[in-house]
Amino acid sequence: MDIGFIGLGNMGFPMARRLIEAKHQLFVFDSRKEVMDRLVALGAKAMSSPRDVADRAETVMASLPSLQASLDVAAGKDGVIEGKRVKRFVDLSTVGSQMAVRIHDILAKRDLVQIDCPVSGGVGGAEKGTLAVMVSGPRADFEAIKPALEVIGKVFFIGEKPGSAQTMKLANNFLSGTAIVATSEAVVMGVKAGLDPSIMIDVINSGSGMNTASRDKFPRSILPRSFDFGFATGLMVKDIRLALDEMKSLGLSMEVAEAVGRLWETVIRENGGDSDFTEAIKPIEKKAGV
Ligand code: NAD
Repeated sequence: MDIGFIGLGNMGFPMARRLIEAKHQLFVFDSRKEVMDRLVALGAKAMSSPRDVADRAETVMASLPSLQASLDVAAGKDGVIEGKRVKRFVDLSTVGSQMAVRIHDILAKRDLVQIDCPVSGGVGGAEKGTLAVMVSGPRADFEAIKPALEVIGKVFFIGEKPGSAQTMKLANNFLSGTAIVATSEAVVMGVKAGLDPSIMIDVINSGSGMNTASRDKFPRSILPRSFDFGFATGLMVKDIRLALDEMKSLGLSMEVAEAVGRLWETVIRENGGDSDFTEAIKPIEKKAGV
């Protein structure tokens, strides 16, 4: 199948590579030429704009770092919306339900389908093809692209309502962001009392406190102090803010989410948006004086 792919970063690159390995013909675009060159070496064709990509493929996927980038790529000047061949825009980015609906409404006026398709599972999951892939949009379009989505992970159809897969993704990432800061506070409490953090993580992982931070982030990135998990603080804070917006738009005020949101605002202020999100432990350590 011919597939367009726009945004070849930490997540997009390995997803695009898996699609090439599964014998799809990829038409790719990224604002960084060097990442396109690496995929061209594997068989992709490099394009010069989202519009060019959408001239070549019925299905155009995107994995982009901000709401504005998704909007620009979908519907901006030289955007996917201008393409001659495109039928559906599949946004693998996390943009929140309001932006997903906004893009859906703009594309619908030109008879283009928007498939909301955020993913979870990190760079490792993108490389291994084990992502959780959450899809909302028209069922017939979902069925048409399902075999391609199965190359990147386990596919879940959330519903036809535009933006509903984004709500699912934000619920997931709120929990992931909570796991890191909550586990960091638990470990820092132990360290302050003189406990060994490695032993603490082993115990937590054999006990009832086990979570994705204790299972993956602490052993791979926080305990070795490598802080190279591959997800930027700026992206985590984007997702936490989107989750809080989503709650507010539903008339909800949620206490854990608000506390977690305040903590992540401290993390981005102190560490910067480009830091790895596993560095969230640093301001917690600093405040505790450990
Ligand atoms: P990234 O910053 O590593 O990659 C984004 C890519 O998009 C870059 O290569 C950049 O050059 C390109 N880009 C930006 N603006 C562009 C534009 N206007 N036109 C063309 N290319 C453009 O980001 P990422 O970590 O790969 O995340 C992408 C999306 O996936 C985000 O929505 C993020 O929240 C989500 N996500 C990330 C992870 C993760 O672990 N990194 C996991 C799940 C979901």
